[in-house]
Amino acid sequence: MSFVVTSNDYVDYIQVAAKKIAENGDYISGLDAITGDGDHWANINMGFENLVAASDEMRAMPIDGVFKKIGMLMMSKIGGSSGILYGGAYIAASKTVAGKAEITSEELCAALEAMVKDMMERGKAEPGFKTMIDSLYPAVEAYKKALAEGKSDAETLDAVKQAAIDGAESTKGMEAVKGRASYQANKGVGHLDPGAVTMSYQLECLCDCIKAKL
Ligand code: ADP
Ligand code: MG
Repeated sequence: MSFVVTSNDYVDYIQVAAKKIAENGDYISGLDAITGDGDHWANINMGFENLVAASDEMRAMPIDGVFKKIGMLMMSKIGGSSGILYGGAYIAASKTVAGKAEITSEELCAALEAMVKDMMERGKAEPGFKTMIDSLYPAVEAYKKALAEGKSDAETLDAVKQAAIDGAESTKGMEAVKGRASYQANKGVGHLDPGAVTMSYQLECLCDCIKAKL
């Protein structure tokens, strides 16, 4: 039997991720100041503050409703590319788990896969373009592989987390194809993509939160 993620579990995770993001303001703003326009942390932090404010409301919803609510809040409260990309991704995830009050590990994997597909279509971006996709995509691939190999929940969560972190780290050597870093002369080479780093924070917190409850 795989783990189950309830709305309560997901809101608990959102609160942990919000804290991790809030604590890394100077670092993330610094990364975006080098490769972008410096607002990525302010954008994503504002989004997470709004999600935390909606915690009680979301705890009372089924998980598909939670994903939809997160998508709508991110779309309306986060400025910049990330608001549209996260908003669309969460709404796509909510459709994947339609009618479900809670989700299994397989369903969480499918929801994350729906998110990355939506981000790639909406952002017209692929893995290797030096964006947040470079953390989420390998995490989803690692998740699918772990499930196919019948890994334990703990091993699966560790593999997803590590792939997300390694993926974010790999953006350092990439030339940006999409996003503001692509307008720079050196295409951001030598610097981490801020969106990939905040994506890896979220996936790291998600995996850690679920693992702590196994
Ligand atoms: P903006 O670039 O509009 O100022 P943010 O600063 O909030 O928006 O977010 C920047 C991050 O968004 C980048 O670091 C990158 O990870 C991601 N990003 C930008 N453009 C795209 C795109 N077309 N597809 C996927 N991700 C993108
Ligand atoms: Mg920006």
